[in-house]
Amino acid sequence: MISKLLRTIIMGPPGSGKGTISQRIMKDFDMKHLSSGDVLRKQIFERTAAGIEAEKYIAQGQLVPDLTMVNLIFNELEKLENHSWLLDGFPRTVAQAKEVLDRGPIDAVINLNVPFEVIIDRIKGRWTHPASGRIYHTVFNPPSKEGIDDVTGEPLIQRDDDRPETVRKRLEGYQLSTQPVLHFFNDKKLLKEFTGKYSNELWPLVHDYLATKTAPVQYTRYK
Ligand code: AMP
Repeated sequence: MISKLLRTIIMGPPGSGKGTISQRIMKDFDMKHLSSGDVLRKQIFERTAAGIEAEKYIAQGQLVPDLTMVNLIFNELEKLENHSWLLDGFPRTVAQAKEVLDRGPIDAVINLNVPFEVIIDRIKGRWTHPASGRIYHTVFNPPSKEGIDDVTGEPLIQRDDDRPETVRKRLEGYQLSTQPVLHFFNDKKLLKEFTGKYSNELWPLVHDYLATKTAPVQYTRYK
């Protein structure tokens, strides 16, 4: 098969393993990963005009205005002209989605559909040592003694962000705001949904799907 450049988008709720799957796509399909959050953080760090504007919205938990966002992302995409790319965190609104399609064809929009209960269950097992930021998990990475940091012997806490109620609210908010974008791409016959609980379960499906679009560089399997 001819190895064609791919222009793709990945979507999925926080905690769906989007970061993990993105890393694997980058590696096996030689793609550049462009995360809108990373682009914004860099702008803020460098104190650019866009960064200073964006910071105000982010601090209030709001989306950065479409025009600013589109300009920033398109500017970055121009640098990736001769590369396959994977957009992450963008588009977040239908207006952004329209702009991205106006700019040029998109080969696939991947949506990771991991049941909310699975994500909540996974996140609620997280316990943190506040002073060091060390993170444990009751199932995947338990401390030697329940509720106690291995290194200092100090008590672990559950961060507000990791509490089931907080996670559920965040997921519901995500769903509400992204539903129109998913519908938009579905209407354009670009949306490809993958349903499963774990990254290792989703990965072969994502890999095989992308492999129908271009030749992979390799196929890394994960157990
Ligand atoms: P993230 O790291 O993707 O969660 O992004 C952090 C924050 O940046 C979000 O909460 C938004 O305020 C802003 N942001 C990221 N991507 C976008 C986007 N595509 N459109 C508007 N705002 C965005």
